[in-house]
Amino acid sequence: MTFSEKFQKTTDVKHWLGDMEVDHFLYTAGIAGEAFFVALRDKGVILGTRCELCGITYVPPRIYCEHCFAELNEYTDVGLRGRVRSFTIARLGKDGNELKKPEIFAVIDFGSGTTGLLHKLGEVTPETVKVGLDVEAVLKPKSQRGGHITDIEYFRPVG
Ligand SMILES: [Zn+2]
Repeated sequence: MTFSEKFQKTTDVKHWLGDMEVDHFLYTAGIAGEAFFVALRDKGVILGTRCELCGITYVPPRIYCEHCFAELNEYTDVGLRGRVRSFTIARLGKDGNELKKPEIFAVIDFGSGTTGLLHKLGEVTPETVKVGLDVEAVLKPKSQRGGHITDIEYFRPVG
């Protein structure tokens, strides 16, 4: 099941006949997640939702504010440019072996008062990455986007 498929009957989620597969859990992206991935795939934009009461813009979007529980139902394009809030450098792969080239992962803010989007950095080295670095999203061509977070290939430094 992908983010675009929806349950039509409640029994589809409450009943499980036969053996339950425990190695293939599938999760839906939820209402806000679906909006986020569809917009990324179809329009090449990054969406958030803003709580006017708290002054927080959630990226990726949430349908409720985590601070005041207000319902958030207006999506906003936060742009493709952001700023590195924090980062980490991975030098080992999933198998525990050293990577040929370190990977850099960062939390990226999209203006003040936004929550951060976790993603990979590119076109930057462990020696040149820094907190506060201005970055922009590098998207896959539209024909190759499938509604996944990897539709954003990475974020690269601006300028
Ligand atoms: Zn709020």
